[in-house]
Amino acid sequence: MPAVRTKKRFRINYLRLLLMLLFVSMIACGVYLLSSSLFEASRGENAASSGQTASAGESAAGAAASAQAETGADVGSGSGDAAAQNPFAAFYYYEAERQGRYENYAARHSDLTPDEIVWRVDADLDRFAYTNIEAVTAYSPPVLLNKYRKLPDDYVPQDLVNTSSGQQMTPETKAAYEALRDAAGAAGHRISASSAYKSVEYQKGVYNKYVMEYGKDAADDFVARAGHSEHHLGTAIDLAGSAGTQEGFTGTPEAAWVAENAWRYGFIMRYTEDNKDVTGYRPEPWHITFVGEEAAAIMHEQGIGSLEEYAVKYVRHRP
Ligand SMILES: [Zn+2]
Repeated sequence: MPAVRTKKRFRINYLRLLLMLLFVSMIACGVYLLSSSLFEASRGENAASSGQTASAGESAAGAAASAQAETGADVGSGSGDAAAQNPFAAFYYYEAERQGRYENYAARHSDLTPDEIVWRVDADLDRFAYTNIEAVTAYSPPVLLNKYRKLPDDYVPQDLVNTSSGQQMTPETKAAYEALRDAAGAAGHRISASSAYKSVEYQKGVYNKYVMEYGKDAADDFVARAGHSEHHLGTAIDLAGSAGTQEGFTGTPEAAWVAENAWRYGFIMRYTEDNKDVTGYRPEPWHITFVGEEAAAIMHEQGIGSLEEYAVKYVRHRP
């Protein structure tokens, strides 16, 4: 009996061992297959995305640059492949060194088109306001001042003239304003300038007063820091209508007339409901900025809603 028992025990162990070996090898095989297929998949993905940033980005940018150099033409329609892989490189205002910033901004703003991503990043809107401030050194209109661009502290326009209502403007701003005011009058709307040129020093006081009263975040929402206001240039005007104040101007028939016709005289509505996420300010229907007839006409015809977008597409870059 003991012999039989021994033999039986041995047979059972042998079978168990065999089954266990089989089982373990099946699992090993499964794990190997699974991991290798995962590895392949991730390798493919990495290759695709690095291909997108490196090869397509560079080649499309290169193609855009050379096409622009040769013809000066808008290369809006890049090659289909490149556009599919890198939607930003198709625009003539694409800047290859900003590729990473375009991608980051696009990831945070899925509601924007590639065009909007590119010009907004070119305008530095992906950065925090009042960081990386650029010094403005060219002063003939259109001049872009905003939370990223600042005048020298001692800047004073050399050619300011007085208006009949006691404001100061550059001569061309004054001439354009008087034409606008007269046309408004002919259409039955009374407008006047309630303020125009403001010095950098004056703005310091205004800004500090608002900070004391409302706190820094709220103040930055509706008043420019010193050096960052287009009022320093003598080209910005705050209008008053029949109500006599700029706040009273909002929502009036004369405000609607100005919004529709200011471009004809070289002015733009600088802070609107539509561009408040670009400018970083609350809408100001009373504030107009003289940018010159050419810029105002292009913005009107092309449907360009902010000076930021115009500056990227027609000053920093040229179509
Ligand atoms: Zn203003």
